[in-house]
Amino acid sequence: MGRHAEQTTVARPVSKEGVGLHSGENCIVSLLPAEPDAGVVFATESGVAIPATAEFVVDTERGTRLGRGGAAVGSVEHLMAALYGVGVDNVRVDVEGPEIPACDGSAAEWVSLIGAAGLAKLQARRNVRRLRRDVWVVAGASWAVASPDGQGLSLAVGVNYNETVAGQQTLWLRLTQRRFARELAPARTFALVKELPALRSQGLARGGDGSNAFAVGEEEYSGPLRFEDEVVRHKALDLLGDLALCGRRFCGHVWAVRPSHGTNVELARAVRAALGEEEG
Ligand SMILES: [Zn+2]
Repeated sequence: MGRHAEQTTVARPVSKEGVGLHSGENCIVSLLPAEPDAGVVFATESGVAIPATAEFVVDTERGTRLGRGGAAVGSVEHLMAALYGVGVDNVRVDVEGPEIPACDGSAAEWVSLIGAAGLAKLQARRNVRRLRRDVWVVAGASWAVASPDGQGLSLAVGVNYNETVAGQQTLWLRLTQRRFARELAPARTFALVKELPALRSQGLARGGDGSNAFAVGEEEYSGPLRFEDEVVRHKALDLLGDLALCGRRFCGHVWAVRPSHGTNVELARAVRAALGEEEG
C-alpha cells in the first residue's frame, strides 16, 4: 500500500452468493469496476446508490448497516475490510438482498473473490492522507483513538471477555496487504454463548451457525479456532472494515479498547472530519 501508488479498481466483474448472517436470506454481491475517485459505492436492487462512508451508516447493532432514502445494505464490514486491506480503492458493489453474505464469518472469501477479479490500476494517483491530530471517541467502557503516524496504518486492539474462555486479548499490527490477508482476513465472527438467546429473540443471527461463526463459552469454544486469539483478530477486522468508512486511505495509529461497531463508526466519522480539515 504505497503512498504514491496509482488508484485501483477490480479488473473484471465478479459475484458471490450466500446467506446473510442476520436475515438468514440468500444474498448476491457483485463487484464491478469503477472510475478513479469513485470510492466504494453500494447499489441496491431498487437502484439506490449508497456511498460507503460513515455519514450513511444507519445502524451499528451487531454489524454495520448503510442506508439511504429507505434502501439499506447490512453487514458491510467484512467486505469493506477486504477492499481496504487488499487495496481496492474504487468499486461498485451491487447487492441483491438485505445484507452482504456471511460467507465463513471472516473476510477470507472476499479476499479470494477480489483475487479472482484481479486489480486494475487506474490513471490517477492514490492520495494517502496523513492524520495531523489525535481523534478520540469514548463510549462507556469502549474507547478508540487515532493518532498521527507517518509510516502507514497500524491497529492496536484490546478486548476483555473475562467471564469467558477468551479472557483478555490484545493485538498490534502494522497493516500491509500480506499481513491483512494472512492475519486478519481469516478471523471469524463470534458470539458469546450467553448472548445467543437474546440475539435470536431480537431477530438477529438468523443465518448464524457453526459454518459462519463460532461461540465463546465460559469454559470452551464451540469448535477449533483458526488462531489462538481469533476473537481479538476478528475485532481488528471489524475495526478496519468500519474505519474504511472514513472513505479515504490514511496514515495513522489506531487504538481501540473493547471496540464496538458504534465506536468504530464514530471514529471513522471523526477521522473523516479531521482529514477533511486539511483539504480545505
Ligand atoms: Zn465482524
